[in-house]
Amino acid sequence: MNAQYKVAVVGGGIFGATAAIEIAKLGVKVTIFERECDLMHAASGINQYRLHRGYHYPRSFETMLASKKAEPEFAKRFSPAMVKDVTHYYSISSENSKVSADEYIKFCDAADLYYKQVSIPIVSSKVAITLEAQEHLFDPNVLRQLLTQELHDANVTLQLQTNATKSLLKNFDFVVIATYASSNELVKQLDLPMQAYQFEVCEKPIVRMPKSFGKVSLVIMDGPFMCIDPYGHSDLYVLGNVVHAIHSVNDGFDPQISPEVAPMLNHGIIKNPTTTKFPDFIESGKQFIPPLSEAEFIGSMFTVRTVLPKRDLTDERPTEVVQLSPNVVRLFSGKIGTSVHAAKNTAEIVSRQLA
Ligand SMILES: Cc1cc2nc3c(=O)[nH]c(=O)nc-3n(C[C@H](O)[C@H](O)[C@H](O)COP(=O)(O)OP(=O)(O)OC[C@H]3O[C@@H](n4cnc5c(N)ncnc54)[C@H](O)[C@@H]3O)c2cc1C
Repeated sequence: MNAQYKVAVVGGGIFGATAAIEIAKLGVKVTIFERECDLMHAASGINQYRLHRGYHYPRSFETMLASKKAEPEFAKRFSPAMVKDVTHYYSISSENSKVSADEYIKFCDAADLYYKQVSIPIVSSKVAITLEAQEHLFDPNVLRQLLTQELHDANVTLQLQTNATKSLLKNFDFVVIATYASSNELVKQLDLPMQAYQFEVCEKPIVRMPKSFGKVSLVIMDGPFMCIDPYGHSDLYVLGNVVHAIHSVNDGFDPQISPEVAPMLNHGIIKNPTTTKFPDFIESGKQFIPPLSEAEFIGSMFTVRTVLPKRDLTDERPTEVVQLSPNVVRLFSGKIGTSVHAAKNTAEIVSRQLA
């Protein structure tokens, strides 16, 4: 391929970074534009860090299959970022669960997902069943280091603190938009069809647990519940909560962010956030996981989750690689594990288009 071709990848999250590396293998010049001061400052650096294998998706067989298929390749490629020595549990609530204990076991059997039924002291009697599972968590800081090294080795130019606009992109032969929550900003400037999304402004509290809690990842399924996972290789934990993590939701083309949350968005761990739902996380979480009442609050992270609209029923999370015009692809992320496959798909389109 002509080495003079110039490809711009907008967005330095996991999807933009892996796509840039894959496209650079075609022998063209690749530049990543990232408006933050480093890679993975937005959703890719602020999430639950679960490399999904499918256990989370008893209501969407497609998402289970996509996660299961993508997971081994991601885990192998970014192996140093995988957090070892964690025991993973999925518990089904005995009340208000969208999937009963029996249905969940049937789902795991049908999906051929390993499980062992166990009894663990850290859950209350509100849990109907607990399964030990086999999954991975990743360390976002190690993943950022690995991507930075790979981008350097692939000769990708990294332009941080640079907001990509139509005028900045006009000299490029191909543009990949991997900007997740902000994708319509650029799509609109380029006069291409926008996609409506559901935007959720989310809080991720970071806590320290008593030593006796152990290195445990525990998800209470399947409905308005919660989870707790080790935070990378540190001795801290990150909390998730289907209800309380969400500060606001809107459907449309762009996220609406309140003035109170805006200054804290995509800025890592905020030690004394001006607004927090941490007390609600603990109040509801300790009903299922009593040791949560001993959690020490370290701070919270804030970011925007972006999902396709009207998927609440199935909770499905497809990843989409859409060619919006001959020279523009929009990469929309479902689950992180699918980024390697989506990057290869994107590179194939670039290769076909510029051949
Ligand atoms: C609370 C929460 C929990 C989640 N938990 C999980 C989980 O456990 N497992 C999982 O697989 N997935 C999870 N997800 C989903 C996952 O985090 C996202 O799907 C994924 O990180 C999106 O990656 P991305 O690279 O597309 O977007 P991002 O990481 O958001 O990257 C997009 C980048 O584009 C940059 N940008 C935007 N516009 C411009 C512009 N014009 N110029 C330059 N730069 C620009 C932004 O600054 C940003 O860094 C979670 C998401 C959230 C929010």
